[in-house]
Amino acid sequence: RAKHEGRNTYRLFRTEMNAHDGRQLALESALRDTVESGEGLAVHYQPLVNRDSGEVEGAEALLRWHHPEFGDVSPGVFIPMAERSGLIIPLGRRVMEKVAEQLGEWRLAGLSPPRVAVNLSAGQFWQGGLVEQVRELFQQHDLPPGQIGFELTESVLLDRQQEAVGLLTDLRELGCRIAIDDFGTGYSSLSYLQDLPLTTLKVDRSFIQRLTGDEGERRGSAAIVAAVTGLAQELGLRVVAEGVETEEQLQALARYPVTLIQGYLTGRPVDAATFESRYLGCRVGA
Ligand code: C2E
Ligand code: MG
Ligand code: MG
Ligand code: MG
Repeated sequence: RAKHEGRNTYRLFRTEMNAHDGRQLALESALRDTVESGEGLAVHYQPLVNRDSGEVEGAEALLRWHHPEFGDVSPGVFIPMAERSGLIIPLGRRVMEKVAEQLGEWRLAGLSPPRVAVNLSAGQFWQGGLVEQVRELFQQHDLPPGQIGFELTESVLLDRQQEAVGLLTDLRELGCRIAIDDFGTGYSSLSYLQDLPLTTLKVDRSFIQRLTGDEGERRGSAAIVAAVTGLAQELGLRVVAEGVETEEQLQALARYPVTLIQGYLTGRPVDAATFESRYLGCRVGA
C-alpha cells in the first residue's frame, strides 16, 4: 500500500511540475552546490567616476556566476533565487570575503584601490553579526576604515527604520559609506533620507535613460532628477547617476548636482584583473 501511495504522489508531482519549475529547481540546487564550493563565482568591479575630475573614486562589486551546465546565469535570476532560499547569507559572505581579499592583495602590491561598494540584500543586512563580520574582514586584510561600503535599497530599510539607524550607525563608525540603491523605484518615503545615516544616493538608471527619451518622458524624468539631486545636495549626500550609457545622457545630466557617474559610458563591470590593469595599473605611488 505504501508503495502504491508513493507512486501516486510521484505522478502528481510530475504532472504539476512544469518545465519552468524543473529548471528553477535544478538551478537552485546548482546554486546550493556553488555556494558550498565557491566554484564558478567571481566578483566584477564597475568604476564610479567623478564627473568633474574624471577620477575613479569608487567601484561597485557585482557578483557573477558561471555554471558548467547553465552557463552564465544573470544576477537578476540567481540573486532573487538566493534571497528566497536563504542562500543569500552564505553567498553574500563569499562576496564580502572575495572583495576584502582582493582589496588586501591590491594594497599589498602597492596599489591604491578605491572604496568598493557591496550590495546587501535584506536577509544579509538583518542577519545579525554583519557589523562584526565587516570589522573582522577589515582587520584580517588590513584594510583602512571605509575601504568597503554598502548599497541597500529603500525597501530593506523602511519597515524597520529604528533598528536600521542603529545598524547603519555602527557601519558608519567603521568608516563605511552607505548608499541607497535604485533610488526612486521603491516606496520613496522622503523622511527616511533625513533620519538614516546615509552618505550616498544612487538615482536609478530608469530616470537617467528617460532623460533622453521622447518629449513627454523627458520632461517628467527631468523634473524628478532635478528634485532628487537637489534634495540630496541639500541633505549633504553624494549623488551617483546609475546606468549612464551615452554622451547624450551625460550632457542631459550636466545641469544637475551629480557627483559620480556609473554606467557603460564610463566603464562596464570587469573582472578584477582587468579592473587592476585598467584603473589601478599606472597609479602606483601617484
Ligand atoms: P544594482 O546593484 O543596481 O547594480 C547595477 C546593475 O546595473 C548591474 O547589473 C550593472 O551591471 C548594471 N549596469 C551598470 N551600468 C549600466 C548601464 O550603463 N546600462 C545598463 N543597462 N546596466 C548597467 P547586474 O550586475 O546584472 O546586477 C543586477 C543586480 O543584482 C544588482 O543591481 C544588485 O541588485 C544585484 N546584485 C549583484 N551582485 C550582488 C551581490 O553581490 N549581492 C547582492 N545582494 N546583490 C547583488
Ligand atoms: Mg548596487
Ligand atoms: Mg543600482
Ligand atoms: Mg538595480
